[in-house]
Amino acid sequence: MTLPDAGSAAFQTLDAAALLAALPDPVAYLTAGGQVTLNRAAQARMAQTGSGDWTALFQPGSVPAIQDAVQAALRGETRQVTVQVVDTVAPGLLTVASASGGALLHLHVARDPLEVALELMDGLGLGMTVQAPDTRILLVNDAATRILGLTREQLTGRDSMDPEWRAIHPDGTDFPGETHPSMQALRTLQVQREVPMGVYHPQEQDWRWLQVTAIPRRAPGATQAKQVTTVFADITEKQAMQTEMRRRERRYRSLVRATSQIVWDAFPDGDFQPPQADWEAFTGQSPAQYRGVGWLDALHPDDRAHTIADWQRAVRDGDLYSTEHRLRRADGQYVPMQVRAVPVTDERGRLVEWVGTHSDLSAIREAEQALRALNAELEGRVQQRTEDLARVTRFSTLLLTAAGEGIFGLDARGITTFANPAAARMLGYSIERMIGQPQHDLVHHHHEDGAPYPLADCPIHQTLLDGQTRRVERDVMWHAQGHAVPVAYVVTPTHDEQGQTSGAVVMVQDITERIRAQGQLQDLIEDLERSNQDLEQFAYVASHDLQEPLRTIGSYTELLARRYQGQLDPRADQYLHFMQDAVDRMRSLIQDLLGFARLSRADLTLTPTPLGDLMRSVQQNVQGTLDADGSSLTWDTPDQVMGQASLLTQLLTNLVSNGLKFHRPGETAHVQVTSRREGDMIHMQVRDNGIGIPPEYHARIFEIFQRLHRRETYAGNGMGLAICRKITEHHGGRIWLDSSPDLGSTFHLTLPAVPS
Ligand code: ADP
Repeated sequence: MTLPDAGSAAFQTLDAAALLAALPDPVAYLTAGGQVTLNRAAQARMAQTGSGDWTALFQPGSVPAIQDAVQAALRGETRQVTVQVVDTVAPGLLTVASASGGALLHLHVARDPLEVALELMDGLGLGMTVQAPDTRILLVNDAATRILGLTREQLTGRDSMDPEWRAIHPDGTDFPGETHPSMQALRTLQVQREVPMGVYHPQEQDWRWLQVTAIPRRAPGATQAKQVTTVFADITEKQAMQTEMRRRERRYRSLVRATSQIVWDAFPDGDFQPPQADWEAFTGQSPAQYRGVGWLDALHPDDRAHTIADWQRAVRDGDLYSTEHRLRRADGQYVPMQVRAVPVTDERGRLVEWVGTHSDLSAIREAEQALRALNAELEGRVQQRTEDLARVTRFSTLLLTAAGEGIFGLDARGITTFANPAAARMLGYSIERMIGQPQHDLVHHHHEDGAPYPLADCPIHQTLLDGQTRRVERDVMWHAQGHAVPVAYVVTPTHDEQGQTSGAVVMVQDITERIRAQGQLQDLIEDLERSNQDLEQFAYVASHDLQEPLRTIGSYTELLARRYQGQLDPRADQYLHFMQDAVDRMRSLIQDLLGFARLSRADLTLTPTPLGDLMRSVQQNVQGTLDADGSSLTWDTPDQVMGQASLLTQLLTNLVSNGLKFHRPGETAHVQVTSRREGDMIHMQVRDNGIGIPPEYHARIFEIFQRLHRRETYAGNGMGLAICRKITEHHGGRIWLDSSPDLGSTFHLTLPAVPS
């Protein structure tokens, strides 16, 4: 394609007005009459100056030359003038051409690199100033005004030595103006890089932190700086963040330190270098000893190989290092340690260092061991309990199964929860049939006489309500086949953990046999009483009827003796004597027998009877014996008994007489009677110093006609003690004796005391 030249026909047909309007450079058209037309770019610039005069676009120094050029253009000449435009550093080139009788002005302003830089820094949020060699501020961007909190006007013209500046170093000390980086740069012609500086922000009334870089500019070959450009970043937030990060890191490190015995660090390549304060303190190793891999010496020899392998692997992979080993403490003791180290990277992910910890495991180990021991003990206990329980369960099952008594378990509502085989057998049900059923409704619904048994009256039900144990001696339960089973039972409440009645256990005894036995016993007693009565009747009748013929024999024997005594031969007299003697004995025997038979319980009238009175009567009865052979009777009987005085006198007279009678040959008898109260009874003792009675005869002597001696030796007919026993028993008492041959005898008897 061939480009047309400026004078081509095509170009000339273009509308010049449109062309001028579209031009980005300011263009003005001045007529000879002083009329001015500005294109859009020129208008925009004018608006910035705030003036109506187009010459206000230029520094006043440039205006005369421009006016000269305009005059020349009006004369038809075209000129180019170098001008200084307001607010720009770089000079502009103004072309003034003659056009259609007027002057056409075209301004081209080259942008100064500094201006570009100011704008660029602004875009990056960095403050920038350009200062003259005397540090007066020439240029400043918007970011600088924001960061410093001062307007463009306040900043422009100010120098670094201005006492209004308030600046400090990070450590809070004063930052004098002559040490400001811009001053340093001017003085030294060296770039001052990233100098931290705190400046006081007047609006926020607080310090802001800046990072200041000052770049000196000088003309090539010059020894003095021409300007200094200062660029600064507001690092207040970054600083705060770093402070916070450092604080966090410190906190984290102190936390690690608190939970670990040792905190250490190592180079990225795993090299262990001093100082390692914790390591030294714990192991007692000197820096020379632990440096490099010297630290391995502080490990238990058996743990070195796996530790170094783990460490090398971690360093190679840049991965978490984790191991355990025994570390020798300064006192020589090995301590089990858990070791961990993490690779620390910078923001670009580069490994910066390793930070590691050693934590004492012994406490954990001890805790683990204690826990294991505790577990084992607990398990042992549980096992023991389980065995105990199993044993108890086995035992109770055995008991329940083997028990002869029926056993029911009931819950709080009276539902049968278990029943043993004996219970099932007793009532004719299977165990399964009884469990889950209300016990009362199933087996306890009616009384023995067939009347309904209301649940409210049932003692088992009452125990479920009040938790009291109950014993019932006679009741019935109903057999599955419909008949009543006589039973005795005990109801015992069961309790839950809170002590509430949770049910009851009923132990039931089938008393059919017992009742039958009791019946039989009753029958036997009745039989016995009847035959006793018969016997007594017989004895009475017999002795009564025997009296009559005996009286006849006695009368005639006496008659015979009276008439023929001394008339027959001596032998006949002796026979007569024998006959008379036998008749006397028989009479006394029959009288005793009659007396014995007449004693009956029915005739007994019991009244309070002082034993002292009785003893006085007894003494009168035996007075003859006492007088005859010098024997003695003493008594100490302060009590009263319920009894019939005549019978008790006979009883005591018999015992005292025996005591006096059965004395040892050539010895005088002493009989002593005492009494004392024992509960509801009075216990009497009749003690003698006589011949005594061998133990084997102690029971027999209370039977009728039982004697241990020949009549020739000791008189008597063997009825005395039988009568004694009958009288004692009729009074509700008991009679027995203590005795051995030659040691005397003590007869004991109990009689009812007078109720107090
Ligand atoms: P008896 O009429 O023989 O006294 P008892 O029934 O009173 O009959 O006594 C029976 C027997 O018991 C006496 O024969 C005697 O052998 C023995 N006996 C009773 N009392 C005593 C006593 N105090 N000392 C020794 N023996 C006695």
